[in-house]
Amino acid sequence: MKRVLITGVAGFLGSHLAERFLHEGWEVYGADNFLTGQRENVELLAQIPHFHFEEKDVRFGVPFPRTPVDLILHFASPASVPDYLAYPIETLEVNGRGTHLLLEHARQHGSRFLYASTSEVYGDPEVHPQPETYVGHVDPTSPRGVYDEAKRYGEALVLTYHREYRLDVRITRIFNTYGPRMRLDDGRVVSNLLVQALQQKPLTVYGDGTQTRSFCYVDDLVEGIYRLATYEGLEGSVVNLGNEEEIPILELARTIQSLVGARLTIEHHPLPPRDPKRRRPDLTRARTLLQWEPRVTLREGLTRTLKFFQAKLGVPS
Ligand code: NAD
Ligand code: UDP
Repeated sequence: MKRVLITGVAGFLGSHLAERFLHEGWEVYGADNFLTGQRENVELLAQIPHFHFEEKDVRFGVPFPRTPVDLILHFASPASVPDYLAYPIETLEVNGRGTHLLLEHARQHGSRFLYASTSEVYGDPEVHPQPETYVGHVDPTSPRGVYDEAKRYGEALVLTYHREYRLDVRITRIFNTYGPRMRLDDGRVVSNLLVQALQQKPLTVYGDGTQTRSFCYVDDLVEGIYRLATYEGLEGSVVNLGNEEEIPILELARTIQSLVGARLTIEHHPLPPRDPKRRRPDLTRARTLLQWEPRVTLREGLTRTLKFFQAKLGVPS
């Protein structure tokens, strides 16, 4: 039985990935320190055979140090804007020192290593859509810089282990992903607007809402990550994963209004500093290397996510 170590397993993406690998017949070793994750995600996974969990801060040591694994998925890191602004040092360290410790572990045991990077490495992009060859437009001095630069440093470390030690590494740059198991209070736009809509509160749109994002449904992302992690011959690859359906935030608010079917108002709040004006992945590389295509439309994905939020909030559907 193949073994995978997943850091950040109590989080939104980590828990979905663990479920997928278990379903594919892998032995899954998960670790988390619950900084931004949820114990209930681990409780769900613990019901599935071949799942093992260790509560561990990966900045200070490797989980399951005596269990060599075939694959490491490093997903531990605060990820939403309010989360990484609340934990800036932790964010820098888990992507810096945490990544380094895990890479060293992978080198000792010959494990394949997949790192969760982000579209934020492109910053406020001057090239649109963003291909992996675009080197980005990031302000290291802005508050947001802690996340962007942490991930850029993480990428540099991962690729250095590939060049210096021929370690089999892969990097995915994930674009805004949403779906069931997001924390209701993570502060991301999809969770904020869904909770507000279900509670009949005004929908908060930052700035004038003309800034765009391209939202990917979690099942599509997990499929892309599974392929990137398991396909042969992808050593050293950096691959965007996301959805190309680009939408202004004001239009996202209107879509959620129409889905929930309530009469809701829209309330404009100040735009956070250095908020990227537009973002859309160039998926050419993902299509070529992984024969992968996102399939779930925004409306369909939001409908599925809405059901999860309704159940969580106890709102009848
Ligand atoms: P999340 O906050 O739900 O999950 C992150 C998990 O990491 C949490 O369970 C948290 O407790 C854990 N964690 C943080 N620091 C840790 C530490 N030092 N030791 C152990 N565990 C630690 O976020 P997510 O959306 O699931 O994101 C997972 C990964 O994907 C992150 O690396 C994030 O940067 C990346 N990513 C996510 C998105 C997205 O849209 N969801 C986009 C780009 C990149
Ligand atoms: N945003 C918003 N209302 C909210 C939360 C976020 O208008 O309640 C905006 C935010 O300013 C950004 C976009 O929605 O322009 C996406 O924000 P999110 O924090 O989800 O992701 P990121 O900025 O990291 O892409």
